[in-house]
Amino acid sequence: MIKKLICDRCGLEITEKEDVDIALEGKEAWAGAVRARGGKPRGVLPCENYIRCDGEMKPILDNGLFWWRWWTRKLLGR
Ligand SMILES: [Zn+2]
Repeated sequence: MIKKLICDRCGLEITEKEDVDIALEGKEAWAGAVRARGGKPRGVLPCENYIRCDGEMKPILDNGLFWWRWWTRKLLGR
């Protein structure tokens, strides 16, 4: 179960369940748009500050574990 989304660049969080659900519904569209540009989606949607931070929102599970553990290490320096 995905609890919230967090930007991998600026750290912006989406914690409202409704907002998370809406974001997840649009993730295929986002992934398609990124692949169309020849890129690889890192998260499920662009950050609200995408133009400034170039970040993507990554889902965080209920138990608090990042899906991408390398990022946790990078962020926390562990
Ligand atoms: Zn951001």
